[in-house]
Amino acid sequence: MKPLVAIVGRPNVGKSTFFNRMIGERIAIVEDMPGTTRDRLYGDTDWNGREFTLIDTGGLELGGGIPVGQVGLSGQPGDIMNHVTSQVQLAIEEADVIIFMVDAQAGITAADEEVADLLRRSKKSVILAANKADNAKRRLDAVEFYALGLGEPIDISSIQGVGTGDLLDLIVEALPPADEMEEEEEEDIPRIAIVGRPNVGKSSLLNAILGVQRSIVSDVPGTTRDTIDTEFEYEGRKIKLIDTAGIRRRGRVGAGVEKYSVLRSTRAIERADVTILLIDASEGLAAQDTHIAGVVHEQAKGVIVVVNKWDLAQQQRRDEREGKFARPDDEIDSAEHYRVTLAEDLKFIPYAPIVFASAKTGYHVKSILEAALHIAEMRYLRVPTSRLNEVVQEAIRRHNPTVIRTKPLKIYYATQARVNPPTFVFFVNDPQAVHFSYERYLENRLRDAFGFKGTGIRLQFRPRS
Ligand code: GDP
Ligand code: GDP
Repeated sequence: MKPLVAIVGRPNVGKSTFFNRMIGERIAIVEDMPGTTRDRLYGDTDWNGREFTLIDTGGLELGGGIPVGQVGLSGQPGDIMNHVTSQVQLAIEEADVIIFMVDAQAGITAADEEVADLLRRSKKSVILAANKADNAKRRLDAVEFYALGLGEPIDISSIQGVGTGDLLDLIVEALPPADEMEEEEEEDIPRIAIVGRPNVGKSSLLNAILGVQRSIVSDVPGTTRDTIDTEFEYEGRKIKLIDTAGIRRRGRVGAGVEKYSVLRSTRAIERADVTILLIDASEGLAAQDTHIAGVVHEQAKGVIVVVNKWDLAQQQRRDEREGKFARPDDEIDSAEHYRVTLAEDLKFIPYAPIVFASAKTGYHVKSILEAALHIAEMRYLRVPTSRLNEVVQEAIRRHNPTVIRTKPLKIYYATQARVNPPTFVFFVNDPQAVHFSYERYLENRLRDAFGFKGTGIRLQFRPRS
């Protein structure tokens, strides 16, 4: 669980310069969401052994009129101050540590004072960084930022890379203690994360699931504010639900908020065995959903794609047709049509079941829960080595590996190295000689033979020693 460090400040103080210097090529999440001014907004880094996620709030597009309480964002382009304050407010809500960056060349501006005011009232850990302190004179001048009432400013030059090490020291000092971030997970309880864009119905689904079985064991406060865990029992089995909606602030939807929600989802997915990815039936799959599905796939987690608000979609359909042409099997047709399109867009996770549901009416809520439990079990499936090698040998016999290097790939034997996620190690003559299409072929053969419906599996190739 990585803490979140946000860089805030008015435009042009050097936030993205600093961010790029810190993250460099080590971008964990590269996003190309339309509407963002830059595509690299957050990435993981580490200093003195502490890992954290750095977010450059300068790139968040918050236009389009997000209501931000008393600040009253007008949504007008060019309304820079409001833009900055909404970034700051988001950071206050979401980040563990905030770097407030100011410009030592420009000195204190009214905008800096306004931001400082918000930050002082927030009681968050704030580090004041006076950037562009490129020379001795500017470093001396930087002292004026004391006046912002946020303690001693640390002077840095992002361009020269001077002072950034000291800043990193301060960041690491300000992070919550590592053991507080650590999760002691009970291994045998399946953990299910509910993720999706704001307003898709995450809270509603959580409530609907809990309504199915009312014996809630406990509300486990998440170790970070990111998630709220709920432990409950279903047919004698303990389950932990990881809810990313819990700390959502009502009515706030916008690209900036969604950025954070992606981050929050990623963290929830990391902790979960099975992810329920909620999609709004009438909105369809958004870039962000595909991105989240990609995270699930990379981490070889279990996944169920839930097309929520199906009641609404069907209602709209009926309204459009005014009932005239509706046939009894119309709903099935539209679900099938939807399923095909969705499966095409999510073809990198062909193993994911797609469920049409309504958190509101309860339609298919029980199926979601049962599918999730089934998938969690699948992740613990162990394949006997002898049976595994029969399947592998048969696969090789039917379709020889393509030669992509000078020497052809030879697979000697395979073994299941671990469960959760099911991981198969193939001992080969040359791991480099495994073409990804052949890897996919082998994965499909394993799935044909053993199932693993709903969960990612891993194939690893090692040289036989
Ligand atoms: P942002 O809008 O806060 O993300 O600012 P940018 O990172 O885009 O930087 C704005 C301008 O300030 C760019 O022209 C940078 O090259 C420049 N800049 C950033 N850091 C420094 C620095 O440490 N010293 C100087 N002299 N210029 C800098
Ligand atoms: P969250 O932001 O993902 O947690 O979404 P919520 O659970 O708060 O739901 C957002 C809105 O969608 C609320 O007004 C819900 O009542 C509504 N909603 C959620 N699920 C459904 C559903 O299956 N059908 C319909 N018609 N509305 C739903």
